Amino acid sequence: MKPNKRSRSVKRVAKRTPGGRLVIHFRKKRPGYAKCAICKRELHGVARGRSSEIRKLPRSQRRVSRPYGGYLCSACMRAEIKRLVRGE
Ligand SMILES: [Zn+2]
Repeated sequence: MKPNKRSRSVKRVAKRTPGGRLVIHFRKKRPGYAKCAICKRELHGVARGRSSEIRKLPRSQRRVSRPYGGYLCSACMRAEIKRLVRGE
């Protein structure tokens, strides 16, 4: 096995060939969930996957369409906007 394939940063997938042989295919791992930049909770409505996979999705499925969508959760966005308006 090639040294770069020995790494645990690549995922091993067992595949059955048409001839009945079991072979190992290597896949890049999926990135983790998007998190809020302030409270670090998982963001909903944000696509998870490698950037090449996300690019194929419609824009509305990539992230939430509101200010700071895909960066802050809704509660933190509200708090952040209030903070900015108050000039703190
Ligand atoms: Zn948050």
